Amino acid sequence: MEGILSLCATPIGNLGDMSPRILECLESADLIAAEDTRNSIKLLNHFDIHTPMTSYHEFNKYDKAAELVGLLREGKNIALITDAGTPAISDPGEVLVHMCVEAGITVTSLPGPCACITALTLSGLNTRRFVFEGFIPREKKERAEVLKRIENETRTMIFYEAPHHLKGTLADLKDALSNGGARQIALCRELTKKFEEVIHTTIEGAVLRYEDEEPRGEYVLVIEGMDPNELKAREQASWEEMSIEDHVKMYEDKGMDRKEAMKAAAADRGVTKRDIYSYLEKNRPKC
Ligand code: SAM
Repeated sequence: MEGILSLCATPIGNLGDMSPRILECLESADLIAAEDTRNSIKLLNHFDIHTPMTSYHEFNKYDKAAELVGLLREGKNIALITDAGTPAISDPGEVLVHMCVEAGITVTSLPGPCACITALTLSGLNTRRFVFEGFIPREKKERAEVLKRIENETRTMIFYEAPHHLKGTLADLKDALSNGGARQIALCRELTKKFEEVIHTTIEGAVLRYEDEEPRGEYVLVIEGMDPNELKAREQASWEEMSIEDHVKMYEDKGMDRKEAMKAAAADRGVTKRDIYSYLEKNRPKC
């Protein structure tokens, strides 16, 4: 019989957050795959768990995932833990889960701490519609693409960031997001630890704060989405200047097919889709 992969969430700072079910799973597993075995051995020793461990990290994730899938096929039960929090959230766990799903191996998740959800709940911002962005890429082109994509995001956004990159990221977010300086932000640091702190301010306020202060500890940034009414007003202002052809093309560029784009343009202009279609047919360039 095949084994099971169990994703075991571990504390993000407070050992009291380790659940009894996860301890039981770690104890009974045949093997624990850990992101950093030197780090995890401290955790396991603390809880008197002596299950064999193997390392599974960013730099061996493809080969090692294939190896672990082989062991699961042979019937070994494997527990996956990462440095902290929920495996597969901004860590190599994602690759192993993907491979197990492809291979038809049963994966189960034992929920527990996760920095992004903990931060979101503390943010005081809209928690009904949110988007998790993880770490913004450091590579210039990829970074610019992400910043462009979120410029007009109306959902609450969640980012992970390392302290030494925080200032640069705040400055980029201020410039990239529409009305960026005025956006509300919750800077959630050292969550669940002794010096847990949640700073509620604007992005401008955060930039100013860190002019005089060095960021310390681990951060999650939770940022207010763009006001949907502002987005609507902007879109209206932009299409009012456009020809009908460009207006339809604007929606096509956003990924709509021709019919949907004509419908959306018609709705903006308060006319029917047939009106838009007739206009475009009449004005079709003659070849
Ligand atoms: N899988 C983890 C989870 O479930 O949250 C996240 C792993 S990711 C590699 C590490 C990042 O999570 C850190 O750089 C930081 O942004 C965030 N993080 C982890 N622990 C945190 C804590 N106690 N307080 C604030 N942020 C934390």
